[in-house]
Amino acid sequence: MKKTVLIEEMPWQDFARAIALDDTIIIPVGSTEEHGPQSPLGTDFFIARALARAIGEKSGAMVAPAIPIGNAEALLDFPGTISIDPAILGSLVYGICENFIRHGAGHFFFVNGHGGNTMALRHAASDLFAKYGVFISSSEWWVLMPKISRFNSHDHGGKFETSMMMAIDESLVDLTRADTKQIKKLTEGISFDYGFYYRGANITLNIPTPVITPNGNFGDPSEEAEKSLGLGMFEAYTDYCADLVKEIRSVPVRPVQGGIN
Ligand SMILES: [Zn+2]
Repeated sequence: MKKTVLIEEMPWQDFARAIALDDTIIIPVGSTEEHGPQSPLGTDFFIARALARAIGEKSGAMVAPAIPIGNAEALLDFPGTISIDPAILGSLVYGICENFIRHGAGHFFFVNGHGGNTMALRHAASDLFAKYGVFISSSEWWVLMPKISRFNSHDHGGKFETSMMMAIDESLVDLTRADTKQIKKLTEGISFDYGFYYRGANITLNIPTPVITPNGNFGDPSEEAEKSLGLGMFEAYTDYCADLVKEIRSVPVRPVQGGIN
């Protein structure tokens, strides 16, 4: 039988032995939503799953089955997008972690593949900490990347995310279908660059996503996306997070309440 860090590939006795030695669980959380005409709907799910697996293999921590659906309400105008309420996502993650706590988990590392999931994961983490005293760190590759590497990675279906998807499975990307139609200006004074800006300051605005980008791209993947860029980001992020996971194992946790450990 092959050696694996994926919980779904293990017999239960192997899981029980492993968690007795290391109580850290990595949880990938993705989304199924449009990523432009060139990339698959599952981009955020595939990326979260692949990053989590590599972090598990580099750190030795076990990896939970990836959650394929998140909160993608802003993209529901694009067919094929699936979105669940953030409260439902939060309670799903909470419930999964509660099960792992019952089995002996004390540390968690969330690998989030989609910005719309961020608040739900933060709420679940703080509620789990309040009830069980477990340690949870949540990570987003596009936020961390500029701080740990030379890559700036903030886009949606653009150069960086498309490159990351190519590094994971090039057969699911067709760059000949990519062309950006995103707006550069909403009004004379308000510009758009993956967010709205007025006099240089980032402002919040709610308008339908197809108004900003009719085909779903933010940034132009057709000219700049490449597999080697994705591989560079993949290695930088998973190396950093594997070291972080090894580090957080030693963060003290409060004894679990209620006698379930
Ligand atoms: Zn994405």
